[in-house]
This record gives sequence, C-alpha cells and structure tokens, in this order.
Amino acid sequence: MSDKKVKITDLFKPEELTEKSDGNFKVICPSCGSDSTRYGGMTLFVESDISFCHEANKYFNLKETFALIRGYLKCIEGRESQWLKKF
Ligand SMILES: [Zn+2]
Repeated sequence: MSDKKVKITDLFKPEELTEKSDGNFKVICPSCGSDSTRYGGMTLFVESDISFCHEANKYFNLKETFALIRGYLKCIEGRESQWLKKF
C-alpha cells in the first residue's frame, strides 16, 4: 500500500466513520475498542492522515493505523506527539 494513494479514512468501512463538525472523523479504536460515542474513540485527521486514540492518548500515522487494525500494534504503543516522525 502507498501512503500517497491511500487515505486514512480508506482503512475503515464507511459505516464505521462518524464525521465531525470540523471535517475530521471519529471511529471506534480498532485496538482498545474505545467507543466514539463517549469522550473516547479515535479521531482521524484527514489532512495529515494521522489518527489519535483518546483512550491511550497516542497518535499514529497511516501505516501505524493499519497496523492497529491488523493487530500488529496496540494503541498504547503509539507516539506521544503527531509531529514526531518516528517512535
Ligand atoms: Zn485505543
């Protein structure tokens, strides 16, 4: 998969996505299952292709989000800041 062709929202099924008023999306965290209907869940930032688990308080790039969905990575193992290039 290519970072340039795949958007972060493409990793999720359309019915899993809840659009926010700011144009980003909320989903249930694929790792910890934190529910997007509470103050929790995972925010998908469409401009930067970054995700953020509110439960773990960690950020993920697109490939890491894919790894979360596949179970290769846990959200607690994510990065502290969305601006860091590496862990
Ligand atoms: Zn999580």
